[in-house]
Amino acid sequence: MEIIRTRRYDVDQIVHPVVRWFRREREDLPWRRTRDPYRILVSEVMLQQTQVATALPYYGRFLARFPTARALARARLDDVLKAWEGLGYYARARNLHRAAARLDPFPRTVDGLRRLPGVGPYTAAAVASIAFGVAAPVVDGNVRRVVSRLLATADMKKIRAWLEANIESPGDFNQGLMELGRRVCAPRNPRCRLCPMSKSCRAFARDVVDKFPPRKKSKPLPHHDVGLGVVWRRGRVLIQRRREDGLLGGLWEFPGGKRRPRESYEACVRREIRQEVGIAVAVRASIAVVDHAYSHFKVSLHAYACDYVAGRPRGDVRWARLRELDRFAMPAANRALLASMAPSAYNQKR
Ligand code: SF4
Repeated sequence: MEIIRTRRYDVDQIVHPVVRWFRREREDLPWRRTRDPYRILVSEVMLQQTQVATALPYYGRFLARFPTARALARARLDDVLKAWEGLGYYARARNLHRAAARLDPFPRTVDGLRRLPGVGPYTAAAVASIAFGVAAPVVDGNVRRVVSRLLATADMKKIRAWLEANIESPGDFNQGLMELGRRVCAPRNPRCRLCPMSKSCRAFARDVVDKFPPRKKSKPLPHHDVGLGVVWRRGRVLIQRRREDGLLGGLWEFPGGKRRPRESYEACVRREIRQEVGIAVAVRASIAVVDHAYSHFKVSLHAYACDYVAGRPRGDVRWARLRELDRFAMPAANRALLASMAPSAYNQKR
């Protein structure tokens, strides 16, 4: 027989057990040891699209470098991107840098937080609930999965309405649901016997846990072949800065671009460097191929050692010694390329 659920039932039998479970079982994470809304905001921005274990070392280093919103606002974007290097989704770092100038006073409402660059409904609700106790539900992938199973529904409107109607102790309830999704109600093989909601979970009671939420068929990611040039001139290599408003915006990389159909990589590298940077190069030798996956596509970077021939480079470019490249924020694929180059192939001073 289906239990008739009232709000009181849901709060007593679901919300309070989740909050108690979270207070007892929660992982000791650095952003849970602070009430400073700036530090909570930094953690929530880092945790967008990123696993806790990946974000952890970045969080400590970032806050050691930029301990306050004012320090972050005063920093150069290059330094912020360098501190973010390897974490991906660099628009987060650029937006956080811009937002830092608008955190005095720190916005305490969901609407106020949403006016900050890069802060969407998820991050605004997370920061408002955790830092200020605002009753704003957070809906990320983990929460969606947990509540979809709890209610045995795929309907996002019902999931949101249930959360909005029942939220209590908002900071701990939101974090409790997220942590349950991460550690107990996992996408595969959830550990229902350990779950504080198992007595009220409809999917568990009906033995249909694996039906919720329904899985979307993922399409294969498109793949691009890219030709890159490591262009040498007088012991230095050429790097260029990407435009700030696009993918990997503001990061430094070796020049190059997508290969056209039937074009050789050598021709691609010469053409791309001429078009993008305005210089002529002689392609000398293949030095490495690096495969990298982004969220929406995959690339294979085919890197070639080149010699500068003629022209004045245009755009935001630098001639840098290899040992100086550590100072520049570079995309992971360019870093992997540097690491994979055989010293004999690239370390020649020309
Ligand atoms: Fe998830 Fe199982 Fe808990 Fe239901 S009982 S919320 S399926 S872990």
